[in-house]
Amino acid sequence: MFLFSTDIDGTIYDGNQTAERFAAFWEGLQESPEKPFLCYNTGRSLEDTRKLIDTTPLPTPDYITCGVGTVIFDNARQSVLDGWSVELEAGWDFKTARETIQQAAHGVSMQPEECQNPYKCSWFWEEKTPGEIRSLEEALSASGIDAQVVYSSNRDLDILPAKANKGNALTWLLHRLDYRKDRVAVAGDSGNDVSLFLVPGVYGIVVSNAEKALSDAVANRNTHLAKRPCADGVIEGLSQWIDSGFQISPN
Ligand SMILES: [Mg+2]
Repeated sequence: MFLFSTDIDGTIYDGNQTAERFAAFWEGLQESPEKPFLCYNTGRSLEDTRKLIDTTPLPTPDYITCGVGTVIFDNARQSVLDGWSVELEAGWDFKTARETIQQAAHGVSMQPEECQNPYKCSWFWEEKTPGEIRSLEEALSASGIDAQVVYSSNRDLDILPAKANKGNALTWLLHRLDYRKDRVAVAGDSGNDVSLFLVPGVYGIVVSNAEKALSDAVANRNTHLAKRPCADGVIEGLSQWIDSGFQISPN
C-alpha cells in the first residue's frame, strides 16, 4: 500500500487526454495488491478542484489538499479537516498581509476572489527576480506577519501562513493517518511543488515539462526525473517506484 500525493495542473492534467491516461493507469493499480491512496495537492480552490474532478476523467481522490496546502479535504467524508486550519493561525493575519503586499509590490494585481481563502492571499506579479521576492518577505516580516512567499510560473504570487505549503499539509495528513512515510510518492511541475519533495522519505517524480526551479531544487533528492511530460511522466515515475518496491533508501 502506498500514498500518492500529486499536483494536478501540468503534472497529471493538461486536458482530458492526459487525465484519461492517468485515470486508466490509476484504475489498473486498484486491481494490484498495491491499493494506493490518492491525494491531490493543488493550488486550485476546493470548489474549483471538485468541479474539475466532476467534469473530467480525473480519478476520484481520497483526499484533496488545495489552495497551496491551506485546506485539506477528506473526500470520503466530504469534510474539511479543521485541525489543519488551526495549525495555520499562528502569526497570520490576512488583512495585514494584503495591505503589506499592496504597498510593497509595485504593479501587483490581486487574483480573483475564488483564488483567495482565509489562509491564502494570491496575486499576479509577472517576471520577478528572486531579489524582488525576498524584499516582499522582508516587508511582511516588518509588518509582524509570519508568512511565506511562494512564486510560481513566473506570475503567481501566493502569500501564505508560515506553515502552509503543500509539503507541510502532506506531513500533517500522514501524521493524522498514522501513515508510514517510506511509502509515499509525490509529483509536481512547478515552484510551489518543491515542499512536497522535501517531506522526509518521499519518492519524487518531476515531469519533463517542469520548471527549472523545481528540478534544480530537488536534484539531489530521492527523485525520478521523468523523460516524458505531464501524466505520461507521472506514469513512468510511478511505475519505476512501484517496480522497485520503493526499495531505494529514502534520504
Ligand atoms: Mg502544476
